Amino acid sequence: MFDALERWLRLSAERLHDQAAALTALDQAIGDGDHGINMDRGFSAIVASLDAGVPEADNDRARAGATLRTAGRTLISTVGGASGPLYGTSFMKGGNAIVAADPALAPGEIVLAALEAAIGGIQSLGKATTNEKTMLDALIPALEAGRAAQATCADLTAVTAAMADAADAGVQATIPMLATKGRASYLGERSIGHQDPGATSAALLLRTLADVVGVDGPG
Ligand code: ADP
Ligand code: MG
Repeated sequence: MFDALERWLRLSAERLHDQAAALTALDQAIGDGDHGINMDRGFSAIVASLDAGVPEADNDRARAGATLRTAGRTLISTVGGASGPLYGTSFMKGGNAIVAADPALAPGEIVLAALEAAIGGIQSLGKATTNEKTMLDALIPALEAGRAAQATCADLTAVTAAMADAADAGVQATIPMLATKGRASYLGERSIGHQDPGATSAALLLRTLADVVGVDGPG
């Protein structure tokens, strides 16, 4: 599991770097134009900490969870704005859930437990729910779709692909939404008609997870 997690973090960093200008353009329309820069900075710092070496742990799952937790702390300390603390907390909560998960659980169940905990962290900090034009509009539909896929076939590749597809659909659904949380809410009705940058980066992270799992297996 640690190997897959590390590949996910590294490939996400590459893709966020490639998409930084596009994410920033989305944030220019309804925010302050820093979302791409923020995510690129945070994930570059995560890659630097992976390059510096990840401590061994009692077992593979504990090492994966601890690494995700460290990545969350890195995001909190290197990324400003709303998304740093929100993503950072979500990674820390996700890491805790991986460490705490029953080892007998299927890989898909562990991923779902991590995503559920991550969403809980975002909600406890940001007090948002669906339909407010935030990253949650990608993440919550992804959790629901992942659960449905897990219930029908319990295959990690299918679960993560269902999560990524639902997140992409969730991103599109943010376009007609009125923003009621975060900086975009300052625009009121003028936020309508624009795609949410945080939902877009969340969907990128979940698509990257599906791609890593699809190519390499659960690792
Ligand atoms: P800032 O808005 O501080 O400049 P970013 O531009 O990096 O931070 O991130 C903006 C994104 O953060 C938004 O597109 C939205 O998805 C997400 N966001 C903002 N506030 C909240 C919140 N309360 N709950 C969940 N996500 C939020
Ligand atoms: Mg911004």
